[in-house]
Amino acid sequence: MNLFLAQSELKDLYEKVAGGARLDEAEALRLFESKDLNALGAIASLVSARKNGRRASYILNRYINYSNYCILSCQFCAFARKKRDADGMQLTVEEIAAKAREALAAGVTELHIVGGLHPSLPFSYYTDMLRALKAVDGRLQLKCFTAIEILHLAWLARKPARDTLLALREAGLDSLTGGGAEIFRKEIRSQIARGKESAEEYLDVHRLWHQLGGRSTCTMLYGHVESLADRVDHLRQLRALQDETRGFTGFVPLPYQPDNNDIPVKVAPTGFDSLRTIAVSRIYLDNFDHITAYWVGLGLKLAQVALSYGADDLHGTILEEHIFHMAGAPTPQSQSEAEMIKAIREAGRIPVQRDTFYQPVKVWSEETPLAAENAGASEILERNLASA
Ligand code: SF4
Repeated sequence: MNLFLAQSELKDLYEKVAGGARLDEAEALRLFESKDLNALGAIASLVSARKNGRRASYILNRYINYSNYCILSCQFCAFARKKRDADGMQLTVEEIAAKAREALAAGVTELHIVGGLHPSLPFSYYTDMLRALKAVDGRLQLKCFTAIEILHLAWLARKPARDTLLALREAGLDSLTGGGAEIFRKEIRSQIARGKESAEEYLDVHRLWHQLGGRSTCTMLYGHVESLADRVDHLRQLRALQDETRGFTGFVPLPYQPDNNDIPVKVAPTGFDSLRTIAVSRIYLDNFDHITAYWVGLGLKLAQVALSYGADDLHGTILEEHIFHMAGAPTPQSQSEAEMIKAIREAGRIPVQRDTFYQPVKVWSEETPLAAENAGASEILERNLASA
């Protein structure tokens, strides 16, 4: 054991985790409350190395928001618009397919598609969209819709959520997104996302999807009005569902962005807070294979540092992000594959291009040159999809 760990207030928890034991909620709260970030990083890195060795992943993906019209008004949301708003938008299925063709030309393997709860689009719009995207290229992986969107679509389709998920899967849905979890505790949820689905409903949609053989990610929006105990409660519920279904592929902690919304918090989470949240997530969520450092909210520099605090994934190239940027995120709209590989290599890790299900598409050895920087679009596409 390192000297600093031997002297740390977290020494007993390091030993417990090193021995393979699971931490309880009180111990997770102790981790959150500790100021010993180096010890947290050491414990989280121990778990991360056990799960993924030196590998750290990224994905070539593109975000598409089909519409920002929403019948709800979550207090933290800077994205949603009403029909009366001049900057509301919605895309036709053909416009979405055109974005997919552009993405394919850039070597993308995943489309990540979410929108607001649109007041009038019919259920057929969503199934037509999925079919049109699979028609662009059947190998494109479609990661679409949050749990609240699924409940909205079920209401539109006049079907139970299970039948709605089956209909969407039949149309081409590959994976659910993890958005909309926010913070599960009811008292906090009503302060930041009044009217949204309950924690139970969020977890039920993911449970149903997992029971149907599907996979999804999950999230936590942190750094607003919640307490550290609320974060532990949130992680506890995710870990319990993962024990039950094993259907979550990864966990994505999302740092709150403070601009253009109705929550009286004016400062985004600090670097310290983000690193400890990623580290505690890695340690406590012992049944999750992957923890993502979401560069859109953290910035690529802090996301890179998070690779030493339990994260093993940097998310994706994204190409066109709106939800965090409308809430004030100062990060760029996209990252190149070369930037992500460089960030991972500098952190002493082996870059792995992954697919939606965190399966490796390409492992970059120490020597592999960044040929993709110079490759033509068809070459990149062939490489990515042939090996996906
Ligand atoms: S967070 Fe989602 S459900 Fe809530 S207002 Fe924004 S778009 Fe609508």
